[in-house]
Amino acid sequence: MRITAIREMPIPLRGDVSNALVNFSEHTVSLVAVFTDVIRNGKPVIGIAFNSIGRFAQGGLLRERFIPRVLRCAPEELLAEDGRSFSPAAVYRAAMTNEKPGGHGDRATAVAALELAIWDLNAKLAEEPAYATIARAAGRPAAIDPIPVYAAGGYYYPGDSLNRLQTELKSYRDLGFVDYKIKIGGAPLEEDLRRIHAALEIAGSGEHLAVDANGRFDLKTALAYADAIAPLKLRWYEEVGDPLDFGLNAELSTHYRGAIATGENLFSTVDTVNLLRFGGMRPGLDIFQMEAGLSYGLTAYMQTMQALEERGFSRAQVLPHGGHLINLHVVAGLGLGGCEVYPGVFQPFGGYPEACMASQGHALPTQAHGFGLEEKPGLREAMAELIQH
Ligand code: MG
Repeated sequence: MRITAIREMPIPLRGDVSNALVNFSEHTVSLVAVFTDVIRNGKPVIGIAFNSIGRFAQGGLLRERFIPRVLRCAPEELLAEDGRSFSPAAVYRAAMTNEKPGGHGDRATAVAALELAIWDLNAKLAEEPAYATIARAAGRPAAIDPIPVYAAGGYYYPGDSLNRLQTELKSYRDLGFVDYKIKIGGAPLEEDLRRIHAALEIAGSGEHLAVDANGRFDLKTALAYADAIAPLKLRWYEEVGDPLDFGLNAELSTHYRGAIATGENLFSTVDTVNLLRFGGMRPGLDIFQMEAGLSYGLTAYMQTMQALEERGFSRAQVLPHGGHLINLHVVAGLGLGGCEVYPGVFQPFGGYPEACMASQGHALPTQAHGFGLEEKPGLREAMAELIQH
């Protein structure tokens, strides 16, 4: 059993939406396919995954460094001990040959797309959904309960209005969501407060609404917003300052009693360890949003989860950034606290197939083999194009 080819294709995100810092109209995502010589139903078994939303496609890094290194390995070097599956850890190690430590930038997402495709491949080889493969690798039960999910949206649009925001959140409510997140920091505080109050009219109360500043604020602005939103008792206050400014986060955590969320822009286990050491994060309260697709894939992500637990934090505090189907399997397989969903934005990657939505505010992966990305309209067509390319 061997890998015969690895392909990457950049897929543009649809839509003209912005958070406090970033407009996504030019953003792309890397879709990666790992081909094997295993033939089922007359076709090769192929593992497919992508990195994540918000960090662009990484075709250059994949083609110049990571794909050739993996393809240069002897086939047996990339197999798991049982010989019936591939070793994601071995693929990760091969990809990272001759890479210096530190400086975890775009390569962390490039390697992640490749490593996650191996998990999809292994699940397809085992003819099971990816969450079951992930759970087994993590020594956890593969049976799962419906997962709490929240609808992330509330971006800034050209010609935006409170009416548009409420219509958007109502559309998520109609899909069965009860928890929501909107962006802040892209408008002055007074205007953002009007947005938050408009969103609260749909969410019902603060415990059902989180806000995300996308790393925009300096300490003074962070504290001004903290004072303004504290009485609303929101679900959490997200990525308030620069994601690597652990001092700001620590200072904020001494002023703001509510939950603080951060971590989506930490791309390695050691970055998270530093957040735990210096960022003032509080066990049992604050929320971690690191994502496998942005931080070298699941091999490294499991080490990050272990680092959290060793320092007194619970995996129930982890709700990964991303809003897409791969993370629903990761959350299910690793028993994390819940999952973000982009029901309306970042197509074709955002959101889940309709069959995944369970009861109010909960979702469940289907029994499709692998990550089940083939069940996602829009993505299915992109995958077919990548395979036939
Ligand atoms: Mg965020």
